[in-house]
Amino acid sequence: MYEKNTESARGTGRSRRKLLFRHLLRRIVHLEYGDFWAAQGAFQRSNTYLLAYAILGMLLLAIGANILEQNTHLIAALSIWSALPLIVLFWLRKSPQASSAPTFLLVASLMLLGAWLLLGNTTDSLSGSVTWFILFPTMTMFSLGLRLGSLVFGLYYLFLLLLMLTPLSRYITMPLEESMRIRMLLAMLGAFVFSWWAEFIRENTRRALARSMERLEEEARTDVLTGLGNRRDFDAAFAWITAKFRRDMQPFSLAIIDLDWFKRINDTFGHAVGDKVLLHVSQVISRHIRASDRLFRWGGEEFTILMPGVGPEAAAAAAERIREAVAESPFMYEHVEISCTISVGLYSGTTTQDTDEALAIADKNLYAAKDSGRNRVVS
Ligand code: GH3
Ligand code: MG
Ligand code: MG
Repeated sequence: MYEKNTESARGTGRSRRKLLFRHLLRRIVHLEYGDFWAAQGAFQRSNTYLLAYAILGMLLLAIGANILEQNTHLIAALSIWSALPLIVLFWLRKSPQASSAPTFLLVASLMLLGAWLLLGNTTDSLSGSVTWFILFPTMTMFSLGLRLGSLVFGLYYLFLLLLMLTPLSRYITMPLEESMRIRMLLAMLGAFVFSWWAEFIRENTRRALARSMERLEEEARTDVLTGLGNRRDFDAAFAWITAKFRRDMQPFSLAIIDLDWFKRINDTFGHAVGDKVLLHVSQVISRHIRASDRLFRWGGEEFTILMPGVGPEAAAAAAERIREAVAESPFMYEHVEISCTISVGLYSGTTTQDTDEALAIADKNLYAAKDSGRNRVVS
């Protein structure tokens, strides 16, 4: 008992630390954990936040170092430069849907900063700044992704190669010996290879996850026997239609279909044959709905049809057509005709109707159809 308590106390401590960590991530890089798809966008944004903070941090460090060495020109230039990550941070905060433009801006500014360090500075003391180039491949890959990151880094690396190992190198004002330049370029290449590999694994994992998520979502929405959308798919589609047209007041109809005396078919021919009859009836109904209507298996031997844009008369006519088609299309099982009929309860109204109420009305009409002898439509 005592052991258990300490164990849970330790667990609480750990989860509290975890919560604190999550809270910090949310505050600093605005990382929100949503479902899988929402998280993808959130991670991209958090990357840009982190990149902006990193660049700002580097610039502040550089400003600090130059204050000590009293390089006034450099301090001024770096201060102006730090406005950029600040603008990006502001931009990200103001527009939560910001595209990849802020990321591009940051990476481009990094590249310019690098080029400027190599070409434009006039002080010897800056030769150490070259150390920061080692961060460049990782930052580029991390913020621009596998393809674009490789392309941008590749072009920039080519630029550095030309600048440092060809006669062009005399334009570099930084006093760097050739052996040091080669070492720096090799180290950058090494950092790039590892960053590329990490990004490659990350993107492939993400893609594999996305594929299985899509498959799982598809499976979760599909009825195995008929291949139609299931209750979950129906609920989502119904909610979507009513949300989309709530303001427009579109005509809308809904049908609940229940097979008549289906238990008898199961009892007479067995459950497996019952399944085949169910599949057969679902196919007959599918063939008789309009392209804009959607058929779902709602449960057991019940189906629903969502008919957006369809008014009461058209819905009743469609339901009647379907009812006749099912009654006239018996299932053939080993030369035996298995006839089956359906009862249909209709709701016709507008998309402003509450979904539960619409379903309740259709269900009440279905009961009325059953009560008045089955094989009929009640609206
Ligand atoms: P009613 O006209 O009043 O609807 O009569 P019914 O026999 O169809 O009604 P009831 O709800 O009593 O029975 C429905 C039956 O449907 C019960 C169940 O065995 C059967 N059923 C439900 N789902 C399946 C299924 O997936 N496959 C098969 N073969 N039968 C199913
Ligand atoms: Mg039923
Ligand atoms: Mg039934």
